[in-house]
Amino acid sequence: MQNDDVTGDPRIAPTDFENENRRPFLHNLLCLTSVSSVVQPKRAILLTMQATTQQPTAFHLMTKPRGAICNLDCKYCYFLSKEALYPGSKFRMSDNLLEEYIRQYIEAQQVNDINFAWQGGEPTLMGLDFFKQAVRYQQKHRRPGMRITNALQTNAVTLDDDWCEFFAANDFLLGVSLDGPADAHDYYRVDKGGNPTFHKVMTGIRLLQKHNAEYNILTTVHAANEGQGTRVYKFLRDEVGTKFMQFIPIVERDNDTGYQEGDQVTDRSITAAGYGQFLIDMYEEWVRHDVGKVFVQIFDIALAAWTGAPPGLCIFDETCGLALAMEHNGDVFSCDHYVEPDYKLGNIMDVPLSEIVVMDEQVAFGQAKHDTLPQYCLDCEVKFVCNGGCPKNRFIETPDGEPGLNYLCAGYRAFFNHVRPTMNFMAGELAQRHPPANVMLEMARYDAELERAFAAAGRNDPCPCGSGL
Ligand code: SF4
Ligand code: SF4
Repeated sequence: MQNDDVTGDPRIAPTDFENENRRPFLHNLLCLTSVSSVVQPKRAILLTMQATTQQPTAFHLMTKPRGAICNLDCKYCYFLSKEALYPGSKFRMSDNLLEEYIRQYIEAQQVNDINFAWQGGEPTLMGLDFFKQAVRYQQKHRRPGMRITNALQTNAVTLDDDWCEFFAANDFLLGVSLDGPADAHDYYRVDKGGNPTFHKVMTGIRLLQKHNAEYNILTTVHAANEGQGTRVYKFLRDEVGTKFMQFIPIVERDNDTGYQEGDQVTDRSITAAGYGQFLIDMYEEWVRHDVGKVFVQIFDIALAAWTGAPPGLCIFDETCGLALAMEHNGDVFSCDHYVEPDYKLGNIMDVPLSEIVVMDEQVAFGQAKHDTLPQYCLDCEVKFVCNGGCPKNRFIETPDGEPGLNYLCAGYRAFFNHVRPTMNFMAGELAQRHPPANVMLEMARYDAELERAFAAAGRNDPCPCGSGL
């Protein structure tokens, strides 16, 4: 996850041109990689390396104080199986480790804007007192002038007034997992008894809204909501009332280890074409009505890339390796998606976090994202924004038989090519210091012209849509 925002200066989301405050941008920086109730909040854009020293000025660490323990049993969750890595553990971060982690994390960051990310499993199962203590330790160890924020991913089932008051009072940004309307959400997101969870999640969201706690919605895209991009988007916008959304494709390897192995996916996984179409369908609604009002992470990432900036999220950046994960006992892994024995870097009680993040293995891990790209990607017209996607999904072959192509390639390629004309327009507006939301006027003109052309078209004329049919 890299970007040039290493100073902590306020920035705006590309589409938030008119509303120059930083909060929408923070929402858009919640990391894409999360799947189930597992978090992924994060300031992707904080992360960068100093070219001369290779010492990261800032990095991201997803902390799992309760390990893989969760109150739900989402069928596609990639993290529940990680419980097997710690047989006999109580899966609770100790107070001693909590303070040491906070001290080291602050010490290792060379910026003044620091974000702690809490994830799981379900982090609220630690109890509210744990997070009150975390905030106290953050205040104890912060440097003068430092701004500390927290992001916490939750399934929202445990939330009550006390939690929401605390989140609002302490500037927590919540990521809430919700997969759309009840039928889409409850298909896979069930509790330990197999019962639906939609209504409990909505109760949690309403409590967050009641207390003005900041939140965004993280929606996974899978076999059960495939083909429903417009419906899901309108539901989140109109019925949930959220302005901040992330959409995460479920690509679940079908194996017994739970590791990133094998080239088969479960039938819960989204298809590549289905993911692309889901994004396109949402985009068609957004680009006509919601630019500058609703913030969809991948749309802002695309616009950033179209303006010539780095995409700003690890999966679309050229390299990665600055988004690590830490288990409840202090074990640090290369990435949240690689909590596997082969990717364990060390434990912060043995090796300082500042050393772990620059270990040769970790630097090589991040560089490999670029160095292992197949020629097919290097020649691709949308490489500047896609960069081959996340390595965890690179397990198919290119048309000419080279390994290492992303399973989602067809979807990415369709989506990024689809948005090209309007992204070009918005990037042009930004270059002139005009709001990208002007694109909505262009779309209205385009739609009106098309409607007129349809009305005037003769029965045997080519279709006015330009398809040539
Ligand atoms: S493997 Fe790299 S690109 Fe993928 S989620 Fe992890 S850090 Fe991001
Ligand atoms: S769209 Fe496909 S070919 Fe192009 S960079 Fe992305 S994964 Fe590679």
